[in-house]
Amino acid sequence: AFDVTDLVQVQTELQRSNAELEQFAYIASHDLQAPLRAVTSFAGLLERRYSGQLDERARTYLEHIMASGQHMKRLVDELLSFSRVTTHRRPPKPVPLRQVVDDTLSRLTSDIAAVAGEVTYENLPTVMGDASQLGQLFQNLISNALKYHRAGVAPQVRLRAEQEGKLWHFTVTDNGIGIEKQYFERIFQVFQRLHPREQFEGTGIGLALCLKIVQHHGGRLWVESTPGEGSTFHFTLSASPEDAVLLKAR
Ligand code: ADP
Repeated sequence: AFDVTDLVQVQTELQRSNAELEQFAYIASHDLQAPLRAVTSFAGLLERRYSGQLDERARTYLEHIMASGQHMKRLVDELLSFSRVTTHRRPPKPVPLRQVVDDTLSRLTSDIAAVAGEVTYENLPTVMGDASQLGQLFQNLISNALKYHRAGVAPQVRLRAEQEGKLWHFTVTDNGIGIEKQYFERIFQVFQRLHPREQFEGTGIGLALCLKIVQHHGGRLWVESTPGEGSTFHFTLSASPEDAVLLKAR
């Protein structure tokens, strides 16, 4: 016969092993930082000071070391952010999203200029949450919207927020390559990418991190898209300050 206590026990065990896994991911990525820094900084030193003494083949090897080091740094940084969402909880504070997006856009200035992109926003409210996580959320969605642009089409990115009862409904819309419907769920999983790295550089952690951040804030994140025309990423955040208590307890 079906026993509810079994279900509760399974759930508790799952939560525990999930927490252990996240703690493991945190420690592993944290401890990888120092040796990785040593590899990239010594490789950089070789390149700056001794590249004149190296033959062409050795210089190519060095370039591979530097490029792989940079990619690994991105992986480690993003994994660290991913595990920090739940392992490093901070009490929720009012976060003025207009300010958050302005800061994000100034960090992305050179990326935006490089693709002759344009990012516009309207109506961004103040919500309760973690400012650094919400900054990461906007940064990932905006940089994806710029990165996955169609060849020869300057990326146009539009951010909007609309209040729907007790929720804010946000959209980040681009005019990029778009995503086929069959991948709408998969792209939010860790390490799931639809393109080879030679075509679009990336780690496959960005959207999984976004999903975790939105869920941690009690919201939902999903995508709508037409291949060849563009994509819209939607997410919700609470509009009522009393929900901040829920956030703290989560
Ligand atoms: P990545 O580091 O590869 O960008 P993400 O987790 O951010 O990883 O995204 C996962 C995949 O979803 C990407 O590899 C890309 O194929 C697809 N994707 C994400 N954002 C967009 C977008 N705005 N337009 C088209 N495809 C996108």
